[in-house]
Amino acid sequence: MKETPHRRLAATPVHPAKSPWRNFDRKGPPKRPGAERTGDFNEIYSHFDEEEIKRQASRCIQCGEPRCMEGCPLSNRIPEWLSLAAAGEFLEAAEVSGTTSNFPEICSRICPQERLCEGACVLNMRSEPVAIGAIEQFINDYALAHGAVSAARAPFNGFRVAVVGSGPAGIACADELAKRGYRVTVLEALNRAGGLLVYGIPAFKLEKSIIDRRLEFLRRRGVRFQFGVRVGKDVSLAELSSEFDAVFWGVGAQRPKPARIPGESLAGVHEALPFLIQKNVDNSLGFEPVDVHRKRVVVLGGGDTAMDCLRTAIRAGASEAVCLYRRDLDNMPGSRKEFDNAIEEGARFHFLTNPEEILGCADGQVEGVRCVRMKLGEPDESGRRRPVAVPDSHHTVKADHVLVAYGFDPVAPPPRGDGEMEVNQWGGVVLDENGMTSLPGIFAGGDAFRGPSLVSEAARDGRKAAGGIHRYLFNSPKDPGHESGGFPGDRPPSSTVPPISL
Ligand code: SF4
Ligand code: SF4
Repeated sequence: MKETPHRRLAATPVHPAKSPWRNFDRKGPPKRPGAERTGDFNEIYSHFDEEEIKRQASRCIQCGEPRCMEGCPLSNRIPEWLSLAAAGEFLEAAEVSGTTSNFPEICSRICPQERLCEGACVLNMRSEPVAIGAIEQFINDYALAHGAVSAARAPFNGFRVAVVGSGPAGIACADELAKRGYRVTVLEALNRAGGLLVYGIPAFKLEKSIIDRRLEFLRRRGVRFQFGVRVGKDVSLAELSSEFDAVFWGVGAQRPKPARIPGESLAGVHEALPFLIQKNVDNSLGFEPVDVHRKRVVVLGGGDTAMDCLRTAIRAGASEAVCLYRRDLDNMPGSRKEFDNAIEEGARFHFLTNPEEILGCADGQVEGVRCVRMKLGEPDESGRRRPVAVPDSHHTVKADHVLVAYGFDPVAPPPRGDGEMEVNQWGGVVLDENGMTSLPGIFAGGDAFRGPSLVSEAARDGRKAAGGIHRYLFNSPKDPGHESGGFPGDRPPSSTVPPISL
């Protein structure tokens, strides 16, 4: 019998100590000093060495009911790969990690672990959590560096699937399907794959080469990419549905939420995403350049995009980068890890400060933001305490540029000949338990479904939809290998197609 990491795990007593977390303090991965890293757009973290990885992984007490897995959107098999990492079996650990995640080297870099796996780790009650994210990054980078990540092509199973959008949900869905023999074509409106991973996440958090490497794995698996194709304009949903056996709609949430306050059309007011793109990606997609060198930049919003804007503005030479957020730090949606990084790099935060008007001078250029101080009242429908204005507390924060980072809404999906995808009141696509929309054969996930959310959640949706497509097609009366271009002889009987673990 072939020895798998899981079997070896069961036979290997890796943690003889009763409370291994007492033996070593938690450490975060090495990080460049703030003053150094603001001089470039390179990643700010480096790896532990191998001995430190083993020490950090050995802090895990191997819970019978691991809360860390519950906290992970992908239900990653965290205790298993921690145990293997503690034993120095890094390749085996990465192999286990790759069974539940299509790009663990990416999620481990950008997940807000303090709200997910590490926030749920039981050690928080006694000490500090296991450094799950840093270990996940190490084992997967190690496996990639040692050429130990498979991109094997599966035999064609006779079905073809179109994936619309090449962001995290689309990549996860395409990868899962390709592993099982589907012929997958990814349609991307822009001229580069990666979606939000490339255009929305600055390189100092996730270098572009890491995304390109993962996309190359998909290509080697047989996934095809077509660029510059806008579904609903260049090709209709009906055409896709007739050409492919199923469609995954994973276009993300692309419509920026406006500031909805007076003055937002003044010169010097910009949406967050075009600003991030032109500073972080070679191809600026033709956006008007924004020069913040020696300028005062004010960012509206309290999410990760707001912090990305602050840190990008500092790297672009801004004299000040100030965030205005109407709630307090505890209620801010952005990652605490990224908040700490932004502070280290010189960003400033004005909490409990609500922008009411963007002020301009006579030539129509921004000169400040008029704000009112807030206090927190009763919880609202989201469970967070509702901010309430403090009387007579108006004041002005000076600004040369204002970046609006209030998040994004999904774009309305195009109709198909037989109807439209049902959407909810927020514009998110409504799905059944298999990830299928109200249009048979069209599946969806990621931000198009849930609104702006985490990359690991989008990946989970993509994997779930892949499972839904798999069930839909293998139960469907369609004959794989028919005129849609399949090769009948390549199709394995359905019983030999491996199940998709969700
Ligand atoms: Fe933690 Fe994210 Fe990795 Fe899950 S995917 S283990 S939440 S870093
Ligand atoms: Fe290990 Fe923490 Fe997960 Fe328990 S909850 S298995 S200690 S990582």
